[in-house]
Amino acid sequence: MELIMTGTGSPLPDPNRSGPSQLVKVAGRNFLIDCGRGCLMRLAAAGAPPITIERLLLTHLHSDHVTDVNDLITTRWISGFPAPPLPIVGPEGTDNFIESTLKMLESDIGYRIEHHSDLESPQLEVAETAAGVVLDDGQVRITAAMTEHKPVHPTVGYRIEAEGSSIVLAGDTIPCAGLDELCLGADVYVQTVIRDDLIKQLPIKRLLDVLDYHSTVEDAARTADKAGVKTLVLNHCVPAPSTQEDIDQWIQMASEHFDGEIILPSDLETINV
Ligand SMILES: [Zn+2]
Ligand SMILES: [Zn+2]
Repeated sequence: MELIMTGTGSPLPDPNRSGPSQLVKVAGRNFLIDCGRGCLMRLAAAGAPPITIERLLLTHLHSDHVTDVNDLITTRWISGFPAPPLPIVGPEGTDNFIESTLKMLESDIGYRIEHHSDLESPQLEVAETAAGVVLDDGQVRITAAMTEHKPVHPTVGYRIEAEGSSIVLAGDTIPCAGLDELCLGADVYVQTVIRDDLIKQLPIKRLLDVLDYHSTVEDAARTADKAGVKTLVLNHCVPAPSTQEDIDQWIQMASEHFDGEIILPSDLETINV
């Protein structure tokens, strides 16, 4: 398996980091987890255009994780002859979100159908999940578990298993039982993280609120340690580290609680699993 970081950023626009998303490649099959700002540009760079995405898995419906879903739908639709239906999995509320997105795209869909006689409406297959098996076809097994990101609720994380290895895409969550269950013995655990020590220095209530529902670096490291994962990937870092010195500091903080490998990747970095 390959894990390609198609977006290592956060809600805050960053010149070098796209919004949160990850691409998992298994024997030529492409699975996209979340679809944040700039995702389609990163997919182009990764050689995985929208038409090649087998399934989109959404962890939750916060804007930073779904900004490019409309672009994914449109670009896949207009680049297929015809495009196969796109399966989309997400927590409760995903159906409504996709329906609203299609409503937003209504004018554009109308223009294109009017102009191109071979086009019909975009085909999407939405499935809402709370926990359990999302896909199991002998080659790839994907399971979901509930995470904890209240007041955003419900939210889910995913574990993808193939070729004897496993990757956990946790999304935004504080430590919780569902997360522990997903991570147990995983090879790679990707966690969105924040630095509470830095955020607490800023006297802005709205920023301090962010502390309520994200794992700190320490939280992520403790979860990784408890679950016995091999590699912890720090992602969606707030505030975003920009220098190698910053990155080393984040990794150093995590290493105080976790003995395994720790990575804080850049956009398009590939982790072989
Ligand atoms: Zn969120
Ligand atoms: Zn987020």
